[in-house]
This record gives sequence, C-alpha cells and structure tokens, in this order.
Amino acid sequence: MVNHQHTMTAKILTDSKAQFYTKGASLHPARWLLMLYSVTYGETYGETHGNTQWRLGRLLLSKLLRCPLCRHLCWHLCWPLLLVTSALAHAATAQTAATLATAQVASDMPAGVILQYHHVDSTTPAATSINPDRFTQHMALLARGGYHVWPIERLIGALRQHQPVPDKVVVITFDDAYPSIYTHAFPLLQARGWPFSIFVATQYIQAAEGQFLSWGQLREMQAAGASIINHTHSHPHLLRRLSEESRGAWRNRVQAEITTAQQLLNQHLGVTDKLLAYPYGEYDTHIAHLVEQLGFVAFGQQSGAVGPNSDFAALPRFPLSGNYSDLDTLQTKLDTRPLPLRARHTDPLLAYDVSRPSLTMSFTRDDLAFEQLVCYGPSGPTTITRLGSGRYTARSDAPVPVGRSRYNCTMPVGDTARFYWFSQLWIRRNPDGSWYPEP
Ligand SMILES: [Zn+2]
Repeated sequence: MVNHQHTMTAKILTDSKAQFYTKGASLHPARWLLMLYSVTYGETYGETHGNTQWRLGRLLLSKLLRCPLCRHLCWHLCWPLLLVTSALAHAATAQTAATLATAQVASDMPAGVILQYHHVDSTTPAATSINPDRFTQHMALLARGGYHVWPIERLIGALRQHQPVPDKVVVITFDDAYPSIYTHAFPLLQARGWPFSIFVATQYIQAAEGQFLSWGQLREMQAAGASIINHTHSHPHLLRRLSEESRGAWRNRVQAEITTAQQLLNQHLGVTDKLLAYPYGEYDTHIAHLVEQLGFVAFGQQSGAVGPNSDFAALPRFPLSGNYSDLDTLQTKLDTRPLPLRARHTDPLLAYDVSRPSLTMSFTRDDLAFEQLVCYGPSGPTTITRLGSGRYTARSDAPVPVGRSRYNCTMPVGDTARFYWFSQLWIRRNPDGSWYPEP
C-alpha cells in the first residue's frame, strides 16, 4: 500500500510540479502538500527551482515536525487530500486547454465561409454541377452543424466594419443563373428560410429562352430573400485583350462589362449593392484596382475563409461542384478560418518568364503553428521559406501548368481540428505570352 502510495504520489508530483512552480500557484493547497511530502521523505522538489519561499517553508515545517511519528501520521492523513487536489488541478489544466482552444478561435478576427455552386442538376456538365441529392445533403449538414446562413451583404458589411461575427457563419452563392437553381435549390432553401445569392451575367438573362433564369424568376427569388448580383454583362475572360485592343480600350471594355450589368440589375430588380463575381474567377491587379475604384467588392473562385484582412477585390469562395462536393471535405471547409495574413494584393497573372511563382505571406500574429504551415501547389507541397519574423514564402518545386492553378495554404487553428485556409490563384499564359485555349 505504501509503495503504491509512493508510486502514485511520485507520478502526481512529476506530472504536477511544473504547474505548482509556475507564477501565481504559490497559494495552491497542493503546493503545501508537496512541501509536506518533501519534508517527510526528503525529496528535493523546490530546491532545484531555487525558490526562496519554498526553502523557507520547508525549513519551517521540518522544525515543526521534528517527531517522526507526527510526520508519518500527518502525511498518511494528507495524501488522499493530495490526490484529490491534484486531480482537481489536472481537471483545471484540461479545462484551461479546451478554453484556450475555443478562445483561440474566438480571439481570431471575425470570419465566415462562402460556398460557390453552379448547376444543381445531375444532367449538366459534372465539373460545374452538384447532384440535387448531394446538394440536399450539404444543406442538411449545415442545419445539423448549427451553421448560421447569412445574406452575403450582411457578412461583407460586418467584416468591412470590423463588427463581431459569430463563429460558423456561411454564405451560399450560385454562379451563372442556371434554371436548376430555381427548380432544385430554391425550394430547399426557401423551406429552410435561408438567404442565398445568384451571380448573374445579365446578357444571358436578356436572351434567356430557358437556358438561364428569367428576370421574373430572379424577381421571385429576390422577393423570397435572394440577393441577385453582378457577374458582368457577357461573362468574358476579362484578362484577355482583343486583337489590336489598346490598354485603355481594354480597361474601358472591362469597366463597361461591370457597369452595364449593374445598370440592368438596378433597372430590372432595383439592385444597389456593388458586389461582383469575376467570370471564371479570373482577375489581375489592374482589374482589382479598377473594381475598387468603381466601389465594388469582388469575389473569385479560389478557396478559403474570408476575414477583415482578406482582399476585398478578390474574396475567396469554396467551389463545391464536381469532385469538390464531397461531404467530409465540406465539413473541413465549413470550419476553416482565414489565415491571419496582412491585407495585400498578389497578382495572379504571372509574367511570361515566371513558371514557379513565389507567394509571400506576412502574418498578423506570432502565436501560430508556423512549423505546420503547408502550401500545396499543382504538383504537391511547395517549399516554405522563412524570411523573418512572421514572414514566409511558398514556392512550387516544379513549374505550374499553363492555365489556372492555385497554392492552397493551411495551418491548424491551435489545438483544434480546424484549419486556417488561404488560397492564391495563378494564371500562366503560354511561354510566348499568348493565351491558352479554354476547354
Ligand atoms: Zn460564371
């Protein structure tokens, strides 16, 4: 019994001593019991830590407990109390760790996640479609997980004004105004009373004929809480200049794509919010600056969570069509937080001679698990290099392919199972500077 006591006590002492010797723990009852044990059995905890208070206390106790019988009696009465207090201290430590993990998420900046769908149909091209059954499962997962589905304007407004945003805020968006949004998604969303957004290329609506939603259908969904938003007028590849087109003419054309769509949305549906989704998620810094000058907030198709430091001229959304509609990965995506980076534009359009782009990341915090920062490029993990305090670069070991590609960077959020997530788009032209054909 005594041996068992000694083994147990030694284990508890070993496990607990660090916490008892930390600042602010001097009045912990277990600390005094430790001292008693130390005096009784000649252990040396305390001396090695050079703690004056401990040494004086130990001296005092050894003077008081000169009688060996008193010491043993006292110790044997005290050890169950030591077990109880140690157990309580352990529980407090575990609770503190859990609280810290929650606090880590809570102390993060406000954030949200934006989901991007196209068709909700099993007969349309797989790459841009989600099967209606799978879409139903997505919505059920949102409901089960206690996610708050917000209108897009509400989340953007809160983030821009640095207002508090509860954890688990999600925005649902659809690009291109396909009829399946009305037939398959709208009834489900309406039944749940959830807002959603449709990014509309207005020329498609003008020429509807059943291939796209009509103004009437958009109006009906708008009346039920949907936001109808700018996706340019003719849905072009905005970066591509026409042959013989000057830089100024190109810029005017891009501007007209945005303003024409906005005028039509205003005229038919009374839309005044200046939100825009880039066709194919394509933009460069020139377009981003133009969009800012026009007073728009714009969305891309690169993945990641949004926060106040995100690039409001290219906000991320998680594409959830085709291979990206898996339920397990949806759960991970829904729980992401924006990687705490300083706000900056990184030009996705690569210079002709750049095939292995460098992504520079400047973090706003230094209490992160930097050793677990990983960025995946099209050919696998990139090489991460530390530039200085809180500054890192990611660079692919192999050339990124011609076309659109991304670096997806993640890092665990404290001790939780959640991830910070940031994605950078790259657009690489042919080596001679010409544009690649679209599939
Ligand atoms: Zn589109």
